[in-house]
Amino acid sequence: MSFLKELRNRELAYALVRKIKEVFPKKPIKICHVCGTHEWTIVHYGLRSLLPDNIELIAGPGCPVCITPALDIDQAAELALEGKTVTVFGDVSRSVGVKYSLEAVRSEGGNVKIVYSILDALKIAKSDKSKEVVFFAVGFETTAPLTALHILRTPPKNFSILSSHRYVPPAVITLYSRGKLEMDGVIAPGHATTISGLKTYEPLAKEHGIPVVASGFEPVDVLMSIIMLVKQISEGKAEVLNQYSRSVTWEGNVKAMQTINRVFELTDAHWRGIGTIEHTGFVLRKEFKDYDARYKYGLKNVNYASEMHPGCRCAEIMLGKIKPTQCPLYMKVCKPSKPVGPCMVSIEGTCRIWATHIAFS
Ligand code: SF4
Repeated sequence: MSFLKELRNRELAYALVRKIKEVFPKKPIKICHVCGTHEWTIVHYGLRSLLPDNIELIAGPGCPVCITPALDIDQAAELALEGKTVTVFGDVSRSVGVKYSLEAVRSEGGNVKIVYSILDALKIAKSDKSKEVVFFAVGFETTAPLTALHILRTPPKNFSILSSHRYVPPAVITLYSRGKLEMDGVIAPGHATTISGLKTYEPLAKEHGIPVVASGFEPVDVLMSIIMLVKQISEGKAEVLNQYSRSVTWEGNVKAMQTINRVFELTDAHWRGIGTIEHTGFVLRKEFKDYDARYKYGLKNVNYASEMHPGCRCAEIMLGKIKPTQCPLYMKVCKPSKPVGPCMVSIEGTCRIWATHIAFS
């Protein structure tokens, strides 16, 4: 049996579920994950339905498109309307700010180009140096290293980035300590933790008594991680453990983090629908300010009274307070083909994942 097949093996999965039932503490517990891919695995393989009723799996703010501020989307759109070429990932282009979506701006003739990476954006910038090109840099510590690397390689002067990069570990820790994210254990995102390292979650275990397990993305990975968490919760322990040892280490990808830190510094940053979280936004350091679209084009911070469509309950969904099916707009006016809120846009958004699996439940 191939390794991948083993990680999707039904009998092994049922054996793990039996083990979870043996070790679970017979009291209600909440396990939070912060990754759209984990939510996809949980929904796709029906893992919630296999677990004891007392174990609730909640999805935290693990979708980068969902948490990208409406202001950033609007400012990127305004730059396109002013004639700059704005390069953006396809899913981000569909997310609606307060005033615009980049997709709508593009269909009205705005200069928006869909790219697969910063490399495509750089190619566009190099191909015509008379045109200003902005790369809308969205994503967590998984995508920030590539942005940082290319900033270090001295892009052309007509190139800049609008950074909405965010850092996950301090966000999870702060949201928990503020009581916004209620949980008894955390499944840490395997890919992001491959970069940041397990050590970044240590304060959650040591200072707040919340066990953490970095997890892979196959159903057996997730079930093993749940066992590792439930066992700790039953025994009153709180450690940072590694289920995804084929990728994650304690220190993480030191080179990638060094690259990020050479180019970016952490600042207090807005997470859409959630608010400002200290030290979670990657902004370009002063020496790279000429590549910072906010500096280059004098973009101002604006406080929106509300950045969600009326009725959209994404903010509560991203904090695990409600399920998508509890939103009155779900699959009525908000659908994958016509998303209203950001959680229905990206394949990592909880509403989108639910909609493509269990549309009418
Ligand atoms: S279903 Fe749509 S409107 Fe409702 S919370 Fe999800 S994204 Fe927002």
